[in-house]
Amino acid sequence: MDPRRRQRQALLPRDVSTNSGPKPAVDNISVHIPFARLGELASRARERNLNVELYLTASDLDRIDADGLGDTLQLLDYGPSVRFHAPFIDLIPGAIDPRIRAVTLERFAQTIKVARALRPDVIVFHSGYEKWKYSLKTDVWLEASVKTWNMVLAETGDIGTDIAIENIVEDHPRNLHELMAAIDHPRFGLCFDTGHFHIFSTIPLDEWLDMTISRIVHLHVHDNDRQSDRHAPPGSFGTGGFDFERLFRRLAAAGRKPSITLEAHSEKDAVAGMEYLSALFKRIV
Ligand SMILES: [Zn+2]
Repeated sequence: MDPRRRQRQALLPRDVSTNSGPKPAVDNISVHIPFARLGELASRARERNLNVELYLTASDLDRIDADGLGDTLQLLDYGPSVRFHAPFIDLIPGAIDPRIRAVTLERFAQTIKVARALRPDVIVFHSGYEKWKYSLKTDVWLEASVKTWNMVLAETGDIGTDIAIENIVEDHPRNLHELMAAIDHPRFGLCFDTGHFHIFSTIPLDEWLDMTISRIVHLHVHDNDRQSDRHAPPGSFGTGGFDFERLFRRLAAAGRKPSITLEAHSEKDAVAGMEYLSALFKRIV
């Protein structure tokens, strides 16, 4: 059993901890679930043996601080791999104003506290880099970011979780490449978001991957038509969508097997995404 699952189950009441449940069918793929909806969606994830990426918002964290995790551990007692998507709205990991950075760190500390109980194998954070806001100067953003992520890495040492930085509005991975070079840590890597790349990148996929592939530890898989960030299942837009086959061929050639989260916004889309990926993997492996 994955040691993190064992650690999570050790926190369960004795009568529940023996019920490890069936092993998830698709071990490397998880589905996106907002933490606030876990109670409603966990039974569906359990039926399909799905791994989960839980999205925690600031209000989720405050509720957990006040009320504890409630029945969350029981909802996850079927033994899935758990991933976290940390809160990001209004937060700026590379903030120049120390007070804004302090609030950001406070939210991250709350996230890490929950991680100590739920033992995610990866926590995804947004980079917070916007080229116009920082007047194209990555150095200012980089200096504060390095301090933030070093603190996050120090605080998560006992959990052993990977920290993955996700591309959002980046049109070029220069800032992410610089961040990876500045923090050369075995638990620090990138979450490559296919949909965000497809809508925002101004460079070809191969060029982006040349700069980043060696540090990709997690994938956010979804598709769009470059008009809006639709979070549609992979393959929805044919040749007008993201080139998933190229991505997975490049990853295989580089010997990399990042974990994957389908960032679908409905169960139907998540199932369609799973089917697309399993057909693709059969074809290219
Ligand atoms: Zn994403």
